[in-house]
Amino acid sequence: MKTKTLFGLFPLVVGLPLAAHAKLNVVTTTPDFAAVAKAIGGDRVDVTALAKPTEDPHFVDAKPSLILKLNKADVLIEGRAELEIGWLPALLQGVRNPRIAIGAPSRVLASEVVELVEVPTTLDRSRGDVHAVGNPHFMIDPVNAVLVARRIADAFCSLDPAAAEAYRSNLKTFSDRLDAKLAEWQKLLAPFKGQRVVAYHNSWPYFARRFGLQIDLFLEPKPGLPPTPAHLADVMAKMKESEARVIIVQPYLNRRTAESVARNTGAVVVDVADFPGAVKGTEDDYVKFMDHLVVSLANALGQSSAKKP
Ligand SMILES: [Zn+2]
Repeated sequence: MKTKTLFGLFPLVVGLPLAAHAKLNVVTTTPDFAAVAKAIGGDRVDVTALAKPTEDPHFVDAKPSLILKLNKADVLIEGRAELEIGWLPALLQGVRNPRIAIGAPSRVLASEVVELVEVPTTLDRSRGDVHAVGNPHFMIDPVNAVLVARRIADAFCSLDPAAAEAYRSNLKTFSDRLDAKLAEWQKLLAPFKGQRVVAYHNSWPYFARRFGLQIDLFLEPKPGLPPTPAHLADVMAKMKESEARVIIVQPYLNRRTAESVARNTGAVVVDVADFPGAVKGTEDDYVKFMDHLVVSLANALGQSSAKKP
């Protein structure tokens, strides 16, 4: 009789609770990692980004509610390379969660799988430079996004081997989709090869290299330091010399400073997002985010070239 009862219960016990508990609870620092994690994990993961898409990734508000999210995480994905040094270590001090300890398979340090650029030969934070160990904005390059996606797939496979085939298949879909789009994006920006674009903050070396643009003039004198009149005067002189007519600004930076530089140089200010979700319709989707960025920039460069005397 006992056996019969067990057999009777078995399908119910196995069928219901497993489906509900099998999801990996993934926390990422910024929304770009979240979008990639969703692409790889699909409906097998719940993903939360700690930073908002319109928030400066260097200066995220370390609210106590974020500690609660980290305490529940099965996986933590961060950029590292000091991108989050101003806020993540402070949050982690309040976290008691061995699953995401450094060295655990569930702690993904994305910058480990990409080649950082602008790595200084000596460490110098003395003047407030927030890129002291190299440029941490490597996700604004689709090729790096695929490298990070592969690392995330490895982590998911090791934590949830039963679904490894699905993670691998999602990785292939993501990678194929980006490959196809990359060719399209490169074609769109090809007419502007070598053109100089001015940026407020130096988030763009990986993007510039991938698409053949020159993004090497910044309104900030050093990453993380506010613009000064002397520095802006120097930038404006260089913009006039090189006929640079586009200034790109992220939503969390001071647009008015960019507008005043634009007025003095005949340039235009272009609002660009550096994270999925900052622009409506790009939520949780790295490809849509990158598509919006490339198309906005190509349109602005096209219009500014047409205006040239
Ligand atoms: Zn930065």
